[in-house]
Amino acid sequence: MRITFLGTGSIIPNPKARYMRSYSSILIEIGGEKLLFDIGPGTLTKLHTLKINTQIHPDFLFLTHYHIDHTLDYIPLVKSRHFNQKTCDIGIGKPLKVFGPPGLKRWNKDIFHNVREWDYMSKELNYREVTNCTEIKTGTITTTKNWKVSCCAIDHDNGIAFRLDSNGKSFVYSGDMGYDERICKLGKNADVVVIECSFPDKKSLNGKHLEPELIANLAKIGNFKSIILTHLYPIVHGKEKSIIKTIQELTDCKVSIAHDFKTSAL
Ligand SMILES: [Zn+2]
Ligand SMILES: [Zn+2]
Repeated sequence: MRITFLGTGSIIPNPKARYMRSYSSILIEIGGEKLLFDIGPGTLTKLHTLKINTQIHPDFLFLTHYHIDHTLDYIPLVKSRHFNQKTCDIGIGKPLKVFGPPGLKRWNKDIFHNVREWDYMSKELNYREVTNCTEIKTGTITTTKNWKVSCCAIDHDNGIAFRLDSNGKSFVYSGDMGYDERICKLGKNADVVVIECSFPDKKSLNGKHLEPELIANLAKIGNFKSIILTHLYPIVHGKEKSIIKTIQELTDCKVSIAHDFKTSAL
């Protein structure tokens, strides 16, 4: 399993960051299959930079929740897969299997039927031909011969966290979340837990998000083997070392910080 971070920031840009941090998306490659977790603005461009043909890949899209910084490039991806039929000679793009929290089907309908300027997506292009949507909440959601994905609900505006198991290795992705011990059960003994660290300390914590001490507590309860921090707000900039130190003083697990295009093999 190969993990590539496509976007590791929040909705707020940070020109001062050492590494570019754009909107949430993680690509997982297992054999010839490509799984995408979240698809924030700019994800398609990132995939094209990696020379990935987005008419074919990703095969699967897993959405943690519907906030704009996690979903916006879904719209051009669906349009391009369908539009391909009329503009290219390789036929219609491959159907995309989409898994998301309750509301996925209504959300599609709202975008592709009810926004008047975009209703050609249902009237002329029939977006349903290139999407296969399944609403999920908890438990095992899809299995192939090479991998299995399961999920649990998480405290962040109808949020879902995912776990991917493949070839004896496990990857967990929190999406955005407030403190919620359900991720400890989902991520029990996981090899890599990619978890949001929106804020650098308790005093700056705002909304349904996490800071280092809360993350350390979750890592301890879940016995996570390693964690990679993502979804960093600009306020985190310059405090990365102290964040890692805080977590490492409280747990035994390995800690690192993601950046856009960072890759990791499992
Ligand atoms: Zn977010
Ligand atoms: Zn969010």
